[in-house]
Amino acid sequence: MKVPFSTADFLDRAEGVYPRRVGLVDEPGDAQDGGLGRLTYGELAVRARSLAAGLDALGVGRGERVAIVSHNSGRLLEAFFGVTGWGRVLVPVNFRLSRDEVAYIVEHSGATVLLVDPEVDAALADVSATHRFVLGKESDAALLPPDADPQPWEPDEDATATINYTSGTTARPKGVQITHRNIWVNGVTFALHAGVSDRDVYLHTLPMFHANGWGMPFALAGLGVPQVVIRKIDGAEILRRVEQHGVTLMCAAPAVVASVLEAAATWHGEIPGRDRTRIIVAGAPPPSRTIQRVEDELGWEFLQIYGLTETSPLLTVNRRRAEEDELAPEERARRLGRAGMPGLGTRIRISGTGEVLARGNTVLEGYWQQPDATADALAGGWFHTGDGGVVDDEGYLSISDRRKDVIITGGENVSSIEVEDCLFNHPAVAEVAVIGVPSEKWGETIKALVVLAPGQSADEAELIAHCKKHLAGYKAPTSVELREAIPRTATGKVQKFKLREQYWAGRDRQVN
Ligand code: AMP
Repeated sequence: MKVPFSTADFLDRAEGVYPRRVGLVDEPGDAQDGGLGRLTYGELAVRARSLAAGLDALGVGRGERVAIVSHNSGRLLEAFFGVTGWGRVLVPVNFRLSRDEVAYIVEHSGATVLLVDPEVDAALADVSATHRFVLGKESDAALLPPDADPQPWEPDEDATATINYTSGTTARPKGVQITHRNIWVNGVTFALHAGVSDRDVYLHTLPMFHANGWGMPFALAGLGVPQVVIRKIDGAEILRRVEQHGVTLMCAAPAVVASVLEAAATWHGEIPGRDRTRIIVAGAPPPSRTIQRVEDELGWEFLQIYGLTETSPLLTVNRRRAEEDELAPEERARRLGRAGMPGLGTRIRISGTGEVLARGNTVLEGYWQQPDATADALAGGWFHTGDGGVVDDEGYLSISDRRKDVIITGGENVSSIEVEDCLFNHPAVAEVAVIGVPSEKWGETIKALVVLAPGQSADEAELIAHCKKHLAGYKAPTSVELREAIPRTATGKVQKFKLREQYWAGRDRQVN
């Protein structure tokens, strides 16, 4: 028998097994029109069904896109279920993007419904869709009819469940189509490797829009794990929530880990979660010193995964094996510094040019309406990650560099080309190359090398301000160096790795 996988399965099980257990602890206070407070999985399931019925009433068809721009919030979490579980497609958008960037995604995805968090409503006032609602009382009144049942949807596991826009090698972000099957396999495999059980309590320290919070919202519901929402990342606040809610599990980018370590240094008393909490890190290779500090100073277990939005995201996992328990802490940290072994059912191969290739059921369906980009990414039946990697004699993958022109700062991808495009639009700029350079705080930070047009003048502050005006703040360079020329190859190509060299001297890899 073959029964199609559906995202609805996860909340169905939560409702069946844990109807009275708290499933959601939303942010308190008035940050977003009151938040949802505490909801049981039973209540969450009722709200998800109402949302699906509300979309029926609005005439939003199966396969239609619903875009949502929101910080982490209970309503974003319920949209994962209420939108996708009845055959519609959720487009979770990065809330830090500028107005123009969001407008592009809404238009490109063809979303007919746009939901915006109150905090971004004013900035996105003129971004519209057929139906636009502010999340909170307004969206509840419009979209959650009381006691209405949605029309049933016969699941199709190959249907697209979410489209996640990601900055890659092109100036414009691409929409990654993730199917119900992708989400299912990713969620179940991830939960298995992370050892998730109904005794866990999860804190959303990862933005839910980013690769659907790595698929955790689904897996956690399936296992009845309470999900605690946090909107703004702050190390001390994370420690307080761990204490207050008995958190045992979270996922985070290395910059978040750094903020928790910083807060722990001045924390009074026992660190919350000691010998209980595990933190799963990805987005960049964490320094082994950081890993050791997590284990020593926090007493939390450190796990690393590696993956991409395009792979739902799970590709590899590195979790301490029982055999490694007795190793010296530095050696354990060194071993955990590798990206890991392929997750169950995933195959990894290194191409002749050193690129990491992957095959498995978490690999994307395609890039939304970009068949050429899809064909390139999947050439030869393998997904091309654009990352450079090596596999050691134990079979563990380590990421050594990035072939694609992407900078990862504070866990978010930035396309160098997008920033270069923006700088080119400044009248004083004749040539530009944007690179990632190491940063203590952000892993990498953005540097622009600029050649000014003859007779023109512009200084660093002006060029940074120009980028901030047109792009999300985190995509603006944090430094600009004016140069006489930018070296190119005989065929006129800029060799980014050469430009990066001087800033990465003394390190064994050019990614952070
Ligand atoms: P995104 O699609 O935004 O999740 O970014 C995916 C990219 O993040 C990958 O292609 C890698 O370049 C990088 N990345 C993710 N996890 C790791 C890791 N554990 N080590 C090194 N780089 C990583």
